[in-house]
Amino acid sequence: MSELKDLKKELGEDKVITDPDIRRIYARDPASFEFQLPLAVVYAESADDVVDVVRYAIKNKLYITPVFHSTSLSGNAATVMKNTIVLSSERMNKILEVSDVDWLAVVQPGIKIDEFNLELMRYGLQWPVDPASSKTASVGGSIVNGGGGMRGAKYGPASHWVLGLEAVIGTGEKIRVGCRTVKCREGYDILHLFVGSEGTLGVVTEATVRLAPLPEAFVGVVAQYDDIVDLANTVVEARRRRLWLMVAEFMDDDGSDLVGLGRKYTLWMGADITAGSEQRVLARLKEVAEANRGKVVAEAAEWRDFFKLLEPRRLLYPAPVKRAVESYGGNAVILMGDIAVPTSRLPEAMREVKAAIQRYGIPTITGGHVGDGNIHPTLWFDRSNEEQKRKAVELFEYFGKIAIKYDGTISAEHGIGMHKKAMLREAYDAKNSPQLINLFKEIKKIFDPYGIFNPNKIFDI
Ligand SMILES: Cc1cc2nc3c(=O)[nH]c(=O)nc-3n(C[C@H](O)[C@H](O)[C@H](O)COP(=O)(O)OP(=O)(O)OC[C@H]3O[C@@H](n4cnc5c(N)ncnc54)[C@H](O)[C@@H]3O)c2cc1C
Repeated sequence: MSELKDLKKELGEDKVITDPDIRRIYARDPASFEFQLPLAVVYAESADDVVDVVRYAIKNKLYITPVFHSTSLSGNAATVMKNTIVLSSERMNKILEVSDVDWLAVVQPGIKIDEFNLELMRYGLQWPVDPASSKTASVGGSIVNGGGGMRGAKYGPASHWVLGLEAVIGTGEKIRVGCRTVKCREGYDILHLFVGSEGTLGVVTEATVRLAPLPEAFVGVVAQYDDIVDLANTVVEARRRRLWLMVAEFMDDDGSDLVGLGRKYTLWMGADITAGSEQRVLARLKEVAEANRGKVVAEAAEWRDFFKLLEPRRLLYPAPVKRAVESYGGNAVILMGDIAVPTSRLPEAMREVKAAIQRYGIPTITGGHVGDGNIHPTLWFDRSNEEQKRKAVELFEYFGKIAIKYDGTISAEHGIGMHKKAMLREAYDAKNSPQLINLFKEIKKIFDPYGIFNPNKIFDI
């Protein structure tokens, strides 16, 4: 610990915190059940601070876990090695520039998404990456995890909405990748290598992001079903009818029940539209729901009203946390699956997810961003109960097998972190490309030659 005194001297006492309670808070993200106490939490306030910490880690053979707001759900932001410094970018949270002509903004990456979007409203613009955690999660966290969200049916994930990054790599050098233009073909696409890199390649210190105009108008409905396949078929049918939904979110019967919506399968569907077409689009939304045995239980003619209707859907993770802690106290672990399948395979995949949950008997609710095929079965267990833990992890991994079977992905938006390393190997085996994991290791060595950044995430070192 004497070395950390040097770091305190270099950066200032208020940036290097060694209090054990603070270190314990920063050791993990919500879903981690394996973690180590870091040596310190360092709050970077500039790229130069990051350079200092990286050089310090190289010199003293320490690891770095970069964190923003630690809302990751796969153990991505957990500290899992001894001799680690947690490097927090949460104080790097300023908007540096907004261009209402170029439709871009330059931000420090720790800014929270809701705070960013609130400011953008003044310009009539949005950063349309809208995770259910948007009150707390950062712009940088969404980019580095390759996240998505509730507007994903139309706008897609963070990878579509980032133009450029500044980062400090594992040699202590600063690099800038990407452009201020949407078109950018300057050699290899290193920018998108950082998307989904989960803090394993470098520390992002600035992001240039694309913006979209706020919609002129919005309409949405909430429909309920007795059968998950009818709900899935509604989404399939909406696509066939060329209804370009902005939001298509769902919760299964157990999830709807847990959040107070009754024991039905619930679908939220909404579209951003030009003013004047509200009644016509609303009628089309109702038609497609009813054609698939859905009962429309609520409708909204404005985004503000629909946003309120969506609140119960945002409880897909918090509601199980509450229930799990009531049942298992401090031993509760909540794991959220994160698979996606092509829309055409949703009915079969969703039926199979539901059947697996019933077969395993582990408490689980399901919901997700059904508009982009993303299903989040969310299960909870008591980590002191070895048999329950074994079955829960098996079920969690079984969801990945369902994704592979239906031409989907084992990880749509949360990343691999600690929890999906075995599933990742299985996914690449299924693509006859097991050598990709070794390629990842080689890529990491180029950016991080001393192996300091977020070790053991995505793949074992
Ligand atoms: C209730 C709830 C709902 C959620 N809903 C969604 C959802 O709808 N969609 C979705 O995509 N996700 C969702 N998530 C997961 C999570 O919110 C996202 O993954 C989010 O993008 C993480 O952001 P963060 O700011 O908390 O980043 P963190 O969790 O702190 O970090 C994310 C990753 O970036 C790395 N990192 C941290 N700082 C840096 C840096 N400066 N440079 C490089 N790497 C760094 C970390 O090591 C980690 O691997 C949800 C989580 C919760 C708890």
